[in-house]
Amino acid sequence: MIKQANQPEEMNAIIKAKCPDCDAELDIPKDIEKGEILSCPSCGLELEVKQIQSGCVDLQELTIEGEDWGE
Ligand SMILES: [Zn+2]
Repeated sequence: MIKQANQPEEMNAIIKAKCPDCDAELDIPKDIEKGEILSCPSCGLELEVKQIQSGCVDLQELTIEGEDWGE
C-alpha cells in the first residue's frame, strides 16, 4: 500500500511574504491581524503588518522610536 505524503488541505493557510531587508521568505499565518509584529527568521528584522489583502500582506520595517537600548 502506498501512502501519500501528508498534504494539508489548507495549503492557503499560510501567506508568503518576503523580508524587505534580506529577501528571506516568511511564512505568515493567514489569520494574522493588522498591526502584528513579525520577526524575520533570517535577519531578525522586526516587521509590522501594515495591510492585509486576500493572500497578500504588506510588511513594513518596525522602527522603534525614542527607545535607547544603549549600554
Ligand atoms: Zn530578513
